[in-house]
Amino acid sequence: MNSLHTSSPSGLPPGLPRIAVLATGGTIAGEAGDAAKTSGYKAGVVGVDKLLDAVPSLSQVARIHAEQVASIDSKDMTPTLWATLCARVNALLALDDIDGVVITHGTDTLEETAYLLHLTVKSDKPVVLTAAMRPSTALSADGPLNLLNAVTVAASKASWKQGALVAFNNQIHSGRDVVKTSTYAVDAFRSPEGGALGWVQDGQLEYQRTVVRPHTLQTPFQIAADLPTVEIVASYAGVSRVAVDALVAAGVKGLVIAGTGNGSIHSTLQQAVADAAKQGVVVVRSSRVGSGHVMRNGAAPDDTLGSVTAGSLNPYKSRVLLMLALAAGTPPKYMQSVFDTY
Ligand code: ASP
Repeated sequence: MNSLHTSSPSGLPPGLPRIAVLATGGTIAGEAGDAAKTSGYKAGVVGVDKLLDAVPSLSQVARIHAEQVASIDSKDMTPTLWATLCARVNALLALDDIDGVVITHGTDTLEETAYLLHLTVKSDKPVVLTAAMRPSTALSADGPLNLLNAVTVAASKASWKQGALVAFNNQIHSGRDVVKTSTYAVDAFRSPEGGALGWVQDGQLEYQRTVVRPHTLQTPFQIAADLPTVEIVASYAGVSRVAVDALVAAGVKGLVIAGTGNGSIHSTLQQAVADAAKQGVVVVRSSRVGSGHVMRNGAAPDDTLGSVTAGSLNPYKSRVLLMLALAAGTPPKYMQSVFDTY
């Protein structure tokens, strides 16, 4: 039997779930010299112990095992850190005395990490990411309540088998769907097509819909530090084919096109995409719009271009899936079915 050898603080209510809090940095761990400052601070500098100390009522919700996995601004997230984080999550969730994991993260790439973990964590136990829009030193910092709510979500049996979740601003989102939609607002996260899965407030939570697409144990995907190179190119008025040609020459394995509208691609870029696909690069057609889905042979002839459509995944989430699918050795002819499934 696997177990975790860390001491539990005394005096805790017996029988509380045991939740591992893995800190990676971000604004939730940010510090500014001035409490009135909500921008221009340094992200990822406050340690996990201090984050937990700011939320004394956590001890009423769970027994906490804390680890500092990284201390970065999430704009600097890397596949290597993804691999480290995912391995740690999987190792902790395999322990009998860990009931769930909470990850504190920066908001900038949270939607990418959440989807990556949704596809690569191998457990039914809850994995809940949270973050903050205001640094820990700010007036009305949102991090402490987000952290308390994330632990509440991770400690709930109702959160099992839902894949990676994001608890933010009293809402619970699926890691597949959630995206950052504001540069400054504390309600920065939305799930544009399906909406939030539910809510969490004052120790209570409710799920109003469940996750339909396969995730975690139902996927074949594994994270590796050396994921195949996939880059993103946008289509816009007057775009040239220079970027696509340069990336193909550099040996990329996949390209995601952030197309206009329903994933439409400028005629200049369409020729470049067709040429890239002929050379074995897998091209996924997504949209830069921010909501909605991209239909096969809708705004571009995928059968002719050799492209795959992303459905409701935005370009950044499409890149995550394409990297994992390429790493899993998915033949190009099955790539559309991968995007239709996950
Ligand atoms: N740049 C920060 C980060 O992603 C932003 C945040 O956390 O809100 O780490």
